[in-house]
Amino acid sequence: MRNDNSPPPPESGSSISTDRPWFTRRSTLVVGVAALAPAALAGWVLAQVFAGSGPDGQARPTPLPASHSALSPGQRDAKPGSTPSESASTSPGAGTSSPAAAPAPAKGPLTGRTVVVDPGHNTGNFKHTDEIDQQVDIGTNRKECDTTGTTTNSGYMEAEFTMDVSTRLRTALEAQGAKVVLTHETGDRAWGPCITERARIGNEAKADAVVSVHADGVSAGNRGFHIILPATVKSGSADTAKIVDPSRELGERIAGNFARTTGSAPANYLGSGTGLVVRDDLGGLNLSTQPKVFIECGNMRDAKDAAQLTSPEWRQKAAQGIADGIVGFLGG
Ligand code: ZN
Repeated sequence: MRNDNSPPPPESGSSISTDRPWFTRRSTLVVGVAALAPAALAGWVLAQVFAGSGPDGQARPTPLPASHSALSPGQRDAKPGSTPSESASTSPGAGTSSPAAAPAPAKGPLTGRTVVVDPGHNTGNFKHTDEIDQQVDIGTNRKECDTTGTTTNSGYMEAEFTMDVSTRLRTALEAQGAKVVLTHETGDRAWGPCITERARIGNEAKADAVVSVHADGVSAGNRGFHIILPATVKSGSADTAKIVDPSRELGERIAGNFARTTGSAPANYLGSGTGLVVRDDLGGLNLSTQPKVFIECGNMRDAKDAAQLTSPEWRQKAAQGIADGIVGFLGG
């Protein structure tokens, strides 16, 4: 991730050179982080993530069970006997996106549910800087249509990573019965879509949950994952009042399950160790009418994180963790 959603590194001058806007958003991010900063609150939030009780104190199934799956016994019962691999294997890489042409999903805890998965950036964005730099209205502000995203030091692109995890996530979700819509497919467009369109796709699908998949690009030594939650904003076409609470629950579920399946820790450079950050500067969140979070799966500029992000086996674990979090959110 970069520009659109890359939070500032903890020390000035440590960002990659083309990360021009991050420092301009420092004040916004500080507000978001500050909201989570007090130790008591941070500890409470962490307890929510890793112990699984809701913000309202209402008990709910833990997102961090000792077993390999977050699914409840009832959910597990619904899973066997389906043929997820068949339905999943026919949909990716079709060239043009055609959700309506997808085969009937498997039966499972997500049957009847729609999940929109947003692979952050586009591998073609580097060649279409004029197009992605066009300004779009995100309600609170105007900003670039889309951004290039970051890369590992060896050149593995964030956009490659996000598409790979997203297609794995689609397979996992379809195996649970969900209808899954990706905001774009490999090769179906030269650049983008714009962040406004990414949000609109989730809204028009009336998605029960939306996840935008990213990886961060900050200085080495910054490690771990974090989930970005929508702040309460109301300005222009942005009004997140109805999605703030469910999005937080979605994010907590994903954070707990992602930590469990990948073994990764919450980010050590923001979020006070909770793995959760609230931001009000992302069009993809501000314009969403459906519960939505971003996940930054790790830091592509850190060698240890990059070793994970470039591993297909790790990416499968990442996708499974996100999927389990969505199942917990929608099926719990
Ligand atoms: Zn990104």
